[in-house]
Amino acid sequence: MKKVAFFCIPAHGHTNPMLPVAAELVKRGNTVRFYSFSEFEKKISKTGAEFISCDAYLPELSEQERSGLKKVSATEMTVQDIRITLRMDSFLDEEFTAFRPDVVFTDSVCFWGKLNAWKHHVPMVVSTSTFAFNQLSSQYMKNTPKEMADLILGLPRVSKELKKLEPYGYHVKGALSLIQSDNQTDSVVYTSRKFQPCAESFSDHYAFVGPSVFSKTVPDKTKERPLVYISLGTVINDRPDFYTKCIKALKDLDADVIISCGHATDREALGTLPDNIQVYPCVDQLNILSRADAFITHCGMNSVSESLYMAAPMVLYPQTNEQKAVAGRVTEIGAGTLLNDDSAGGIRAAVQEILDSPAYRKAAEACSADFRSCTGAAGAAEFIENAPHTSDGTDVIAELNQKNGRFQFLYWAVVIAAVNLTGFFVSWKYVWLPGIAAGILSGPIGDAVQKRNYAAILRRIRNKAA
Ligand code: UDP
Repeated sequence: MKKVAFFCIPAHGHTNPMLPVAAELVKRGNTVRFYSFSEFEKKISKTGAEFISCDAYLPELSEQERSGLKKVSATEMTVQDIRITLRMDSFLDEEFTAFRPDVVFTDSVCFWGKLNAWKHHVPMVVSTSTFAFNQLSSQYMKNTPKEMADLILGLPRVSKELKKLEPYGYHVKGALSLIQSDNQTDSVVYTSRKFQPCAESFSDHYAFVGPSVFSKTVPDKTKERPLVYISLGTVINDRPDFYTKCIKALKDLDADVIISCGHATDREALGTLPDNIQVYPCVDQLNILSRADAFITHCGMNSVSESLYMAAPMVLYPQTNEQKAVAGRVTEIGAGTLLNDDSAGGIRAAVQEILDSPAYRKAAEACSADFRSCTGAAGAAEFIENAPHTSDGTDVIAELNQKNGRFQFLYWAVVIAAVNLTGFFVSWKYVWLPGIAAGILSGPIGDAVQKRNYAAILRRIRNKAA
């Protein structure tokens, strides 16, 4: 029997998938301490884990910081993550000494969980509530110019905060090393290998256990008329403008509509509701999805996984780059359509398309079957109990990096030769031309070569296995 310390940031989307894992570990006789925040106490206690409140260590936020967090600014989240880690330092020193966990199970962006596992030399398993992102799968995430600006302009602030960690015994190379998935860290990912983009680039240190849901409910879509469910998740859901457009779009549809609008939205502001539409601040999402025929979603990983688990095809309305990556994968498997036009007309057309085309439903049903064949919470619990793990398979990313390094060396050697030849045979006035062209082309050519190398490595691995 093991003692397991769970750590998570104060967010439903990150906490929810850890709950069935906690329940399973407790059921198997392990002792679980879950370090979290009072908002989550009830559901954590229900799992049988011991809830430890960390509320006292949340810093007071300025208006600007609060607004940054609301907009899911990567800089603001990183800075606050570090601040909480520093505030929790002596408390967690005492906890690690008293509880002496055998394993730490920590959310992938919960710095205080990761950093304390390293500092106290306790085996760590990372809980990844989105897809696992490495240099290949992160190509599914396209940063908007605003997100790029946030990252670049935030760099000095982040590196200033990171420096504060060192005196407390937390050794960090950079923010990326704290966030990105690598092939040496034991990780639980709540999706299937089939749904994870570039799954074969992840080593045996990854357990793809399928969506972590409590419900054993089987989808049942038999009813008099279709059911459309709408939710923008639990973080950025204060969007009365969007809900109003949905109501306008769907009021005459021969379907029932349920909107989960979150606690921040004023339901009165949505006006008198048509008979076929109901609005709630929070619903039992899994239950509704088991009956739903279309789900308008912001594409949070949990919502999308739950929707596929319950065979409900989706209208995809992603807001952040991570959600865009999830939406991209859903369109690839054919289980949803992107909402490119979020006017009432656009919403109506997208919902109608999902309801009218059986192909979307069939793709969602296939994914539901795949998800249900995964090991689930039991698989995650077993993986945690047996940590740390070893891997004797090929590290695809390490091999890819080697090949990329060789290519970069060759590429820039050719560029230097071209620059010199231009200067020598044409004119030194024009040497900047091949230089600039090479700079512009290095990104797309590098990506194409990486793709080709990845395909070649996979071919070799598959041939070996055959
Ligand atoms: N959720 C719920 N009731 C609601 C709305 C959401 O239980 O009315 C749950 C949903 O089932 C999911 C989580 O909240 O597990 C939302 O997580 P997701 O990753 O989709 O989005 P986030 O809230 O993190 O943006």
